[in-house]
Amino acid sequence: MRKIQEPVRNTVTRSIAEINPENDRGPSVGDQQETAEAETSQRRDRSALGYLEPKGTTVGFAQCGTCGLFIRPRPRCYVLSDQLMVDEDDSCTQYFLGDPIDEPELEPMNAATPQEVGFIRDTNTRCENCVSFADDFSCRLFQELNAKLPGLFNLDVGVRPKACCNAFQPQ
Ligand code: SF4
Ligand code: SF4
Repeated sequence: MRKIQEPVRNTVTRSIAEINPENDRGPSVGDQQETAEAETSQRRDRSALGYLEPKGTTVGFAQCGTCGLFIRPRPRCYVLSDQLMVDEDDSCTQYFLGDPIDEPELEPMNAATPQEVGFIRDTNTRCENCVSFADDFSCRLFQELNAKLPGLFNLDVGVRPKACCNAFQPQ
């Protein structure tokens, strides 16, 4: 869940500080803390990478067979083209856990291309099968992003084996 930022309050506080001649001495400790807080609030958490955890013991989590946009009897994806057959073990970045659609006559929207949604075939798209998954149940990619770009990322690196994110890369 993204944190709600408060840019208006911060801007007003800074404007008042700027017109106060007392501030010629430089930013106060309070200003510095506020700036640090603002910078921290702008760092991305792992929702920016679409990190998802399974609910309960869902088998086939993060794959078309358990996606709410999968038209199972057709079998197609509701957002992709009717020309593209979709299997239960495919996946993409638009996945959400839900009951597949049980209406064979429902035509897909053709709203996106496979490339645009990161469509991937026949792959168990879960952390346990990703090159970045470490034995201590952490994500090496998240660790590296935090370490190399600390001003941009504040990612919780603990991940579950059956979870997934949009940066999945098969081993
Ligand atoms: S291609 Fe993506 S959106 Fe479509 S059914 Fe599969 S996971 Fe869901
Ligand atoms: S291990 Fe892979 S799929 Fe899991 S969070 Fe890290 S990059 Fe994403």
